[in-house]
Amino acid sequence: MKLFQGQNLLEFAERFQTDNNCKEYLSSIKWEEGFTCLKCGHTASQIRKDYSRTCNKCSHTETSTANTLFHKVKFGVRKSFFICFEMSTSTKSLSASYMGVRYGLTAKRARLFMHKVREAMQSSGNYPMDGDIHIDEFVVGGKEKGKVGRSYDSKKKKAVCAVELTDKGKIKRMYAIKIDNFSSKELEKIFSKHIAQQSAITTDLWKGYHPLAKEYNITQIESNNGLNFKALHTMIHQVKSWLRTTFSWVSEVNIERYFNEFCYRLNRSQTKKTIFNNLIVRMVKANKIYHTELICR
Ligand SMILES: [Zn+2]
Repeated sequence: MKLFQGQNLLEFAERFQTDNNCKEYLSSIKWEEGFTCLKCGHTASQIRKDYSRTCNKCSHTETSTANTLFHKVKFGVRKSFFICFEMSTSTKSLSASYMGVRYGLTAKRARLFMHKVREAMQSSGNYPMDGDIHIDEFVVGGKEKGKVGRSYDSKKKKAVCAVELTDKGKIKRMYAIKIDNFSSKELEKIFSKHIAQQSAITTDLWKGYHPLAKEYNITQIESNNGLNFKALHTMIHQVKSWLRTTFSWVSEVNIERYFNEFCYRLNRSQTKKTIFNNLIVRMVKANKIYHTELICR
């Protein structure tokens, strides 16, 4: 099965004309390494018209969407493929109400599915950044503040952002995560998840980074109102204005998902050709997420 490449909407619509076209695509990813029956472990099966597989031994049938993030999607696989295509290839801000209007869904349905997509966009943490890294914290919501004296205002959501720079000081990769406060313990989370120990890390003079210098190679310099962290601050500014203009309200539980989406696209801006396929593979390999989990977590 040929993987879909590129960002051309007409080619996409041509390739995925029916739900069944999409199911065929999903099944080829899902059973790439062959079929194994979930009930009895047998490996021989019949392929059905809708690309489900029926075990030759116990007759258990598994659909191409079962146990993936497309599991029981109410509005059909084709619409969900289009939403994945838009979310992976777009450079624009896509809100749930916009998606709802475009695909004839309620904003609520669109939002739930889009959150599943964002879960799939989450970094595995398997490829930590290992070059020239700049790190800073920021708040979401409320007014921008000077760096003098960290704000501990409980209403503002706090986050920490790390970027890896090229030799020319351009952004290579970026990660942002939500943290509860600006203490060393919280800041350490982005280090352990996304930064390799041998990296050359630069931060401003915030004391929260002092204890981390024991384990990591950290140089602390004056921020000079952000001038010494220009590329990083441009990204922080972008993620904040993206959040502000796209989503009317970003809850504490969902903010990490929005960071996932933003960073996923940014980190793949050089590999746009295969980004849709990459996302579908992630949707298939991820465990299914129930709607209740999406709301409560
Ligand atoms: Zn079986």
